[in-house]
Amino acid sequence: MRRITLFGATGSVGQSAIDLIARDMPAYDVVALTGGRNVAQLAADARRLNADLAVTCYPECYDELKALLSGSPVEVAAGPEAITEAASRPVDWALSAIVGAAGLVPGLEALSHGTTLALANKESLVTAGPLLLGRAKAHGATVLPVDSEHSAVFQALVGEHMAAVERIIITASGGAFRDWPLEKLATATLAEASSHPNWDMGQRITIDSSSMFNKAMELIETKEFFGVSPDMIEVLIHRESMIHAMVGFNDGALMAHVGPPDMRHAIGYALHWPERKALPVERLDLAKIGSLSFEAPDQARYPALALATRVMHEGGLSGAIFNAAKERALDGFIAGEIGFLEMSRVVAETLDKMSSLDGLQNAEITLDNVLETDRLARIRAGEAISQLG
Ligand code: NDP
Ligand code: MG
Repeated sequence: MRRITLFGATGSVGQSAIDLIARDMPAYDVVALTGGRNVAQLAADARRLNADLAVTCYPECYDELKALLSGSPVEVAAGPEAITEAASRPVDWALSAIVGAAGLVPGLEALSHGTTLALANKESLVTAGPLLLGRAKAHGATVLPVDSEHSAVFQALVGEHMAAVERIIITASGGAFRDWPLEKLATATLAEASSHPNWDMGQRITIDSSSMFNKAMELIETKEFFGVSPDMIEVLIHRESMIHAMVGFNDGALMAHVGPPDMRHAIGYALHWPERKALPVERLDLAKIGSLSFEAPDQARYPALALATRVMHEGGLSGAIFNAAKERALDGFIAGEIGFLEMSRVVAETLDKMSSLDGLQNAEITLDNVLETDRLARIRAGEAISQLG
């Protein structure tokens, strides 16, 4: 039996993983499930999957979770430290599917114990890529990509040499506003930004897809994970979300990964890697689909992309600034403090204020430096929001 832990089990990615695991329960020994406010789901899954431990990241949710699991053998804990403690419990495979920078510390902890980490939490790579991958290397642990584009690139690279790779193309649907007139974008509401043309995902990543901050994060994620230079990475608008990424080789070949927009594919690939096993995802009928379309992204519509390029070139702690400012700006948009287009302004201003500070540019990417940068960037982004408001 494979021992597994799921961080962010109650979220969109976590639930897709549980769908796969629940179909083949005898194969798994579920050690820990973690969640947040959705304690009803967490408790139900902990019972159903016979987990040893259920953890909510919110101490104020402890009593409710405890009550929901009373009479069951499931151990209950709460708070960020309890999630880190869960990450220290030996398992063979863990899914990192917490949303936001909060996913970093549990991921690092799991890697310190040699755990194979299936990484959906792109924020940890954007914020602290060298730290995360360095930790994996130091402990002989493997990081597997779960973000669909990165899983697609990873699969296209099987049996290939990185030296032969010329470029990596990640695709983007263009999000909810791909056809809106530019002048209307400023008026986009929370409800409008929270819908996605092709994927069913958590609210935060869905809004990030509308603004293309998600693709911006994925550019940085590509650079960090595959160790390629920023100039080798391209974004291509592909409305149908069938091709998730392509790798271009030095003989002119492009290897494309084609599949339905269903996260259970990328999660399942990481779950069974290095094998491929049958997965319950739709089989594409290409004759029915007929044609696939491609467009260059409009930089004026998606200012987040240029910000990501800047961050990739600056390196150092600018990824931590970028991610924290983006998270704070997104909180601000969700709370109605700022408009849709102001999110990229807040991130740009925070980068302007912080990334040129000498101390930050030359600082090492240690956990302490990353967490302090994250804290300061949220404060600076908050100030930028107040000035706009
Ligand atoms: P969701 O918002 O649906 O789920 C997030 C999960 O994290 C939930 O279990 C939530 O608990 C928990 N959580 C929230 N805040 C904290 C915190 N501070 N500490 C610990 N746990 C917390 O997100 P998604 O599943 O959409 O995304 C998860 C990650 O995967 C993100 O990094 C996202 O970018 C990435 N990703 C997602 C894809 C998708 O299809 N959704 C595709 C590719 C990547 P609760 O809900 O109980 O409060
Ligand atoms: Mg993705």
